[in-house]
Amino acid sequence: MKILCVGRNYAEHAKELKNDIPDKPLIFMKPASAMLKDDKDFYLPEFSKDVHYEVELVVKISKNGKHIAKRFAKDYYQEISVGIDVTARDLQAELKSKGHPWEIAKAFDSSAILGKFLNKNSYDLANLSFSLKKNTEVVQQGNTKDMLFEIDDIIAYVSQFFRLQMGDLIYTGTPAGVGKMNIGDNFEGFIKEKKLFHTEIK
Ligand code: ZN
Repeated sequence: MKILCVGRNYAEHAKELKNDIPDKPLIFMKPASAMLKDDKDFYLPEFSKDVHYEVELVVKISKNGKHIAKRFAKDYYQEISVGIDVTARDLQAELKSKGHPWEIAKAFDSSAILGKFLNKNSYDLANLSFSLKKNTEVVQQGNTKDMLFEIDDIIAYVSQFFRLQMGDLIYTGTPAGVGKMNIGDNFEGFIKEKKLFHTEIK
């Protein structure tokens, strides 16, 4: 099982990190060992002093496939959720400045916080709001209509390079409002009004 992630999929977030808007999806991966689910606590890693939350809509692949055409992409996922793409921003900045790969800043243990899944058929995926609360206050709010690359575009694109397998996850990028996680913080992730995860920072 693998976790595919899209970087810079919302123009406002690309701007807040002073990145250009990409003309193709920017893809990176996390291993299965990055997954943190069932509302478990998140332990801040010792190698970073600036660990950030990035709330993202998550799609679970339900069928194996390769070279999936965009018009068929919707048949390859049934469930959606929200999660946090946890990012060691200080390490990432250092790696980016050297042109190095991102993995140690993005794919470390427990860096993919994951909520419970919902059936996609009950939702309008082209206009779906999701959000993150930190200590009961909303810190990030996104809507899929603001994605630069929609879910089906992402599936068509990544499946040219990687065979998608049942159970794979796609983190579809974060909207603006990312920020630092501190010990004692509580985070809750929502699709519309539905709470799908909470996690406490230790
Ligand atoms: Zn992200």
